[in-house]
Amino acid sequence: MFKIKTHYHINFTALLLLICLLTGCNSQSPNIKSATRDNLLGTTITISIYDNIPDSLFDTIITQCFDTINDIEARMSVNRADSEISRLNENHEGAFPVSDDIYELIKNAIQFSYHTTGAFDISVGSVMELWKQDGDFIFLPSPIDIIERLTYVGYKAISFPADNKISIPTGMKLDLGAFAKGHALEVVRGILIKNGIKHAILDFGGDIFTLGKKPDGSNYRVAIKTPIIGDNSLVCIVEVSDLSVMTSGGYERYFEQDNAYYHHILDPATGYPANNKLLSVTVISPDPIGADALSTAGFVLGLEKGMNLINELEGYEAIFITEEKEIYVTDGLHGAVTVLNEGFRKISYN
Ligand code: FAD
Ligand code: MG
Repeated sequence: MFKIKTHYHINFTALLLLICLLTGCNSQSPNIKSATRDNLLGTTITISIYDNIPDSLFDTIITQCFDTINDIEARMSVNRADSEISRLNENHEGAFPVSDDIYELIKNAIQFSYHTTGAFDISVGSVMELWKQDGDFIFLPSPIDIIERLTYVGYKAISFPADNKISIPTGMKLDLGAFAKGHALEVVRGILIKNGIKHAILDFGGDIFTLGKKPDGSNYRVAIKTPIIGDNSLVCIVEVSDLSVMTSGGYERYFEQDNAYYHHILDPATGYPANNKLLSVTVISPDPIGADALSTAGFVLGLEKGMNLINELEGYEAIFITEEKEIYVTDGLHGAVTVLNEGFRKISYN
């Protein structure tokens, strides 16, 4: 899965402007068919197909896509007591049987934990649970509770006693929130390809996959929101094709208490929201699952460690935006990122 980087450049040549996946204007074009569903994977999901296909085929494909996402949510959500993950989380020390995709996903997650020295760790679930009430990230736990729950965090204790069986120690809880959206994007991409679709954009709440190029041969232009609470402007645009663009930041899921902000990306070493002077991390890759894991990990690791990690891995590029309003981009993205927000400046990182 991981290769050390030798040579990786994305081919960025297109100049045509398609602004704003995030503002939804893509649905205005006559050749694009779009469908949107709210409250899936805790967000709004839009699938836009650029191929010229009959309405009936579009409807069939879209139904298949949303049914599949529903199924992924039903099996992988920690917010549903009857999901496979929730049942695994209640079944400590046993060899709990899981479906193929969950088994592979958890094995894959552990690889990412190793490569990120535990900054990405799906076993953060028991601590994450403390920060939630009725599934929402809204509650400031006591330091003592956090310290107690931290003893259950540690991906190295997840074991695979047999094919499709997973065992976790007593007290540990897995949470696929940082990873399963990437998996869902990968699966939906597969459905589109199987149905002969060559040009599409999948927008899963700002996490994007672009399938192929636009029908005219140009790249898609994916806008990234200014990662500041209450600011709805766009900070930059990145030109991509056949790539995922996955962003993690502290500006969308957070709460405020006693003049302090708490967001949902936890440092598994402390149990508290990561605080590395970053506003957001976007990872760009053909692999949406890896990009999802690495954007979360990059946000936890901070600018230097996060950038160094991405620079070492083949197939991943990144945009780190700091509280100083600097936009650091990896070498492979050179020329592909255009800054829109004049308060920010772009810096190459190598
Ligand atoms: P990411 O950075 O990709 O992930 C952050 C999330 O990962 C956190 O919310 C937490 O769950 C987990 N996490 C935090 N720190 C770490 C870490 N260091 N390592 C590993 N994981 C970490 N939201 C709702 O509001 N209601 C729902 O019912 C709901 N159901 C969902 C079901 C599924 C299957 C999935 C995948 C997501 C669901 N969500 C739901 C959204 C989910 O709670 C997360 O907020 C979302 O996936 C985070 O995505 P992100 O790109 O914003 O952040
Ligand atoms: Mg993620």
